[in-house]
Amino acid sequence: MGGTEIGFVNEAFTSNWIAPLGPNVDGFEQDLMKFTGSKAAAALSSGTAALHLALILSNVTAGDEVIVSSFTFSASVNPIVYQGATPIFIDSEEDTWNMSPILLEEAIKDRLSKGKKLKAIIVVHLYGMPAKMNEIMAISKLYNIPVIEDAAEALGSTYNGKAVGTFGKFGILSFNGNKIITTSGGGALISNNDDDVKKARFLATQARDNAPHYQHSTIGYNYRMSNVIAGIGRGQIQVLKERIEKKTEINQFYKKAFENTGILQLLHEPNPVFKSNFWLTTALLNHHKPEELRQYLETFNIETRPLWKPMHMQPIFSACPAYINGVSENLFERGICLPSGTAMTQDDLQTIIEKIKSL
Ligand SMILES: *Cc1c(COP(=O)(O)O)cnc(C)c1O
Repeated sequence: MGGTEIGFVNEAFTSNWIAPLGPNVDGFEQDLMKFTGSKAAAALSSGTAALHLALILSNVTAGDEVIVSSFTFSASVNPIVYQGATPIFIDSEEDTWNMSPILLEEAIKDRLSKGKKLKAIIVVHLYGMPAKMNEIMAISKLYNIPVIEDAAEALGSTYNGKAVGTFGKFGILSFNGNKIITTSGGGALISNNDDDVKKARFLATQARDNAPHYQHSTIGYNYRMSNVIAGIGRGQIQVLKERIEKKTEINQFYKKAFENTGILQLLHEPNPVFKSNFWLTTALLNHHKPEELRQYLETFNIETRPLWKPMHMQPIFSACPAYINGVSENLFERGICLPSGTAMTQDDLQTIIEKIKSL
C-alpha cells in the first residue's frame, strides 16, 4: 500500500457508503480515465468480469468464435467459454512475446474461409509489454472485427505515447493482489464509448430496468466494485507512477547485471514506440532449464515463477483451434519471471543476481 488508501476507506465508513456504488467508485473511475486517457470507465469486481462484459457487449454468443493470444493467463480465455463461444488461439511473435499479427491475419482468413463467425479479437499485453497495436488494429479494421485489449498486467504501459487498453473497442484492467496496483481484488472496463460503459454498469448491477419494482428484461450480473474497495484503488492510483518507475529501475538493474554474460536474455522494448510498465522482469535462460534455476533459488528463499503455460498446451483447451509457430512453446520451455517486487532493496537484487550467476 502507498499510505493514503486507508483515508479513502475511512471515508467510505464515516459516510456509511458500504455498497457497490458511492463516491469512491465514481472517483476511482475518474482517476482511471485521467490516467489512461479513456473517455469512460466502469469499476468492477475483477478483470475477468470486465472481459466477460466486454464479450457480452460485443454480442459474443453460443457458436461464435473469438480470437485470443495463446501466451497468457487462463482468465483471458475463460469468459469466451462462459458465452458458449470457441477460443481460437494465436501464437506469439519474438519481439514482444505477444500476439503475432502475421498469424492473426492467417487465422482470420482461414476461419472466414471455413464460414466461421469471428466476433472479437482479445489481444493481451503480457507482463506489461504492449502488443504490436499498429499492425493488429489495421487487421481489425480490414476485417471489421473489434479488438478487446487485455491490459490486466499493463496498466501504465503505452504504445506510441497512448495507454494500452485505449486502442480497441474495449480495454480491461485488473487490480488483483498480484498486479502493479491492487485493491485486493477488482477490475475495470475502459472504452471511448460512454454508452457501452453505461451498458456495462447496467449489466454489472443485475440489469434492473427503470421501474420502481424489480423488473428485468435481460440477464444481469453482480460484477460491480464496492465503494470500500474503490477507496483502496483511489489511494493506489496515487502511487502508480512511482511503482512504474521502481519496476523500470528493477528491470534496468537486472539488465546491467546480465549484459554480455550470456546467461539470459531479458524481454525488452523492441523500440521507443513500446513503453512497458515492467510489471514483471522476465527472461529466457541460455543454458539452464528454468525449473533448475527455480529450485536452486528456492533453497535461498528466493521465489521465481515459470512463464505462463500457453493456452493451446492446456488440457482444458486442447480441442480448440490454434495457429502456432513454436514461439510461445519455446518461451515456456526457457523462460522465467525474476523477482520484481517493488519492496525489494538493492541488496536483495544484488543477492538474487549473485545466486543466479553462481549457478
Ligand atoms: C490477472 C489477469 C486477468 C484477470 O484479472 P482478475 O482481476 O484476476 O480477474 C486477466 N488477464 C491477465 C493477462 C491477467 O494477468
